[in-house]
Amino acid sequence: MRQSRLFTKARREAPSDEVAKNAQLLVRAGYIHKEMAGVYSFLPLGLRTLNKIIGIIREEMNAIGGEEVLLTTLQDPEAWKKSGRWDDSVVDVWFKTHLKNGSELGLGNTHEEALTALMTEHISSYKDLPRYVYQFQNKFRNETRAKSGIMRAREFIMKDLYSFSTNLESHNEFYEKVAAAYENIFKRVGIGEKTYRTFASGGSFSKYSHEYQTICGAGEDTIYIDDSKRLALNKEVYDDAEVYATTGIDKANLKEAKAIEVGNIFTLSTRFSEALGLSYKDAEGKATPVFMGSYGIGPGRLMGTIVELMADENGLVWPESVAPFSVHLMSLGKSGDEAFQMADALYADFVKAGVEVLYDDRDISAGQKFTESDLLGIPRRIIVGRDAVATGQFEVVTRATGEVAKKTRTELLS
Ligand code: ATP
Ligand code: MG
Repeated sequence: MRQSRLFTKARREAPSDEVAKNAQLLVRAGYIHKEMAGVYSFLPLGLRTLNKIIGIIREEMNAIGGEEVLLTTLQDPEAWKKSGRWDDSVVDVWFKTHLKNGSELGLGNTHEEALTALMTEHISSYKDLPRYVYQFQNKFRNETRAKSGIMRAREFIMKDLYSFSTNLESHNEFYEKVAAAYENIFKRVGIGEKTYRTFASGGSFSKYSHEYQTICGAGEDTIYIDDSKRLALNKEVYDDAEVYATTGIDKANLKEAKAIEVGNIFTLSTRFSEALGLSYKDAEGKATPVFMGSYGIGPGRLMGTIVELMADENGLVWPESVAPFSVHLMSLGKSGDEAFQMADALYADFVKAGVEVLYDDRDISAGQKFTESDLLGIPRRIIVGRDAVATGQFEVVTRATGEVAKKTRTELLS
């Protein structure tokens, strides 16, 4: 893509109304736009990164047998009344609205109810199980605190996966597959080393759930890490004696840290299947409630976490796997001169080779190009100036390390 065609403009100054580093940098770099507190739009560069993250999650969900759907945002209160979660005193993040005839609707904050109700039309026998259904869908939550930028938005995309199994044993088998897929995802987006499987309270469904918590000073959660076991405990279970028996963790080995919950996995048991009438007939013809689990990841929160962990004083730094472009090509000099012509040709070569390249073809100063390039955070910068014209060698700068190399056109394209 030619940068002269990109409608977004990078800004020098951080927006005064943002405290979170992720939102400050992403707004400055033109990746996102703040509509209002906790509500963000994704612009071309931001959408490319978000879609890369979504693509990685989708691959991992498909690999464990997930089937993708897209459910509606508008929610029928009836299903939620059956599960007891329609009431604002039970779920305090509801956004609700009305039809013209006065009847109430909700904007979905999660989809256990809707999907469980839907599955009653498709699951009736043990032969229909197990099933794994997931989506990338906009959730609406009236969050009280919205100070963490895109890590805590009032409207955000969630990957939510739901599993439908015959019994606990079959459920547990899949639960561990999801855990492994989550570990792949966090590794692939570059936060694997800092992310811990964390025991948290399970709500009303099971004794514990698992969160995936990424160590980061900007995190809202407090966890206790056992590094030798690569496990952690959420503060909410720290004083529970049983968790030490379950995990084999020694309280004396724990280190406290701030962390971001990037994902979680839950055993729901038959909480929703019983409430919404989702059962199957076993081999003897006996009706049994379906055993369920739910598994969430916030791609936007993941994107914010990557920014919080990797950005430096000059701007964003993306790992290759989620960068909006792999190469930031720039021509120095004046439009029409030899360096520009050479950069044009290299751009065409990259496009032909299928390399994702952002080409700064604008007639602005080299200094401004470098500053903006640092801010945008694309992994490799290739500079075409007088030097390249004279020697046929291009300077390649790695954004993360500042490392500089010289490469020929053939080397760049191989
Ligand atoms: P938190 O305790 O941080 O509010 P949660 O327990 O409400 O999270 P879930 O309802 O299980 O989280 O949502 C699943 C995933 O969706 C979370 O692990 C997180 O990655 C993401 N998520 C949750 N709330 C938000 C939000 N307000 N903005 C962006 N992502 C979110
Ligand atoms: Mg929440």
